[in-house]
Amino acid sequence: MRQLTFIKPGVLEWWEVAAPRLQADTDAIVRPLVVARCDLDLYIATGVVNYPGPFAFGHETIAEVVEAGPASAVSPGERVVVPFQLSCGSCGACRRGWTNSCEAYPFGAAYGLKPTSGTEFGGALSDLMRIPFADHMLTPLPEGVDPVAAASLSDNIADGWRAVGPQLAERPGATVLVVGGLAQSVGLYAAGAAVALGAGRVLYLDDSPQRRERASLMNAETAPLALAEGRLASEQFDIVVEAAGDAAALGFAIESCAANGILTSVAIHLGATTPVPLTRAYYKGLTFATGRVQSRPTFPHAMACIACGAFHPEKVTHRIVSIDDAIEAMTDPGPKVVFRCEPVNAPD
Ligand SMILES: [Zn+2]
Ligand SMILES: [Zn+2]
Repeated sequence: MRQLTFIKPGVLEWWEVAAPRLQADTDAIVRPLVVARCDLDLYIATGVVNYPGPFAFGHETIAEVVEAGPASAVSPGERVVVPFQLSCGSCGACRRGWTNSCEAYPFGAAYGLKPTSGTEFGGALSDLMRIPFADHMLTPLPEGVDPVAAASLSDNIADGWRAVGPQLAERPGATVLVVGGLAQSVGLYAAGAAVALGAGRVLYLDDSPQRRERASLMNAETAPLALAEGRLASEQFDIVVEAAGDAAALGFAIESCAANGILTSVAIHLGATTPVPLTRAYYKGLTFATGRVQSRPTFPHAMACIACGAFHPEKVTHRIVSIDDAIEAMTDPGPKVVFRCEPVNAPD
């Protein structure tokens, strides 16, 4: 089968590899229908993040089941969301919702990201994928939800959701600030989800006009971040999301967080250490969270919000291309590329 393989920054290749087969009665084999580019994929492809190749690429997908083991309840033909992290669903960590550290897999186990665990599990930009523990891993896509719109549920949509969804459930009507940037689509999904969940106010700050335009399409209020021009935190928000990935923006996020506020950093801060005004965070009594999303227990909440018509992640997507154009489109600097694995209809 065909597999998009990351070789080194600037070099992706289509490789012909053996198709995966069922290895356990609880496995399923799926065929990706749509694949979204994770925010991290752009930085791996361009060398901003140093991941050694070769490895199978792509980890956000909505797929169709083509084969299911005899102990699996999933059925061929079903459309399913595939979480990017592998997890068993029954170990102690999984039972607590910590599927990003399932005890059945090496830490960091994920599709399309071999270097995070050291183990190759295959990628979504392939003809087929093997899904272990299929009944736990796979969730049917609801009728009426466009796979192209929801393609990023596997990771980035869930990642944006976790920064505002539980927080707004705890504090209905709270105000939300998103400091956008490096984690391009994650910050935008957080803003869109906050609007959908009825936040009292959603302000999206970003120096990128293209991303601000995407946030506006989801009815968030927008303005330039403008830290280089000396912008200081002048307002306080109950819930703050930092997606910018640099120390100055994280400091601004802390300064913008109200007393007893909740701050989630969804960006990967790439330096070994990141200077932050921790004393300010202490006196404000902030709750600070960071880390990889728990994809499997999180995405169904975002999916339900999409299915009910309130949340529109498709507004973040700036480009939809055929999978045949994946190599070129992987380095598109915009916020979200979605690859269709079937022929793309020509525009009317
Ligand atoms: Zn990802
Ligand atoms: Zn587990």
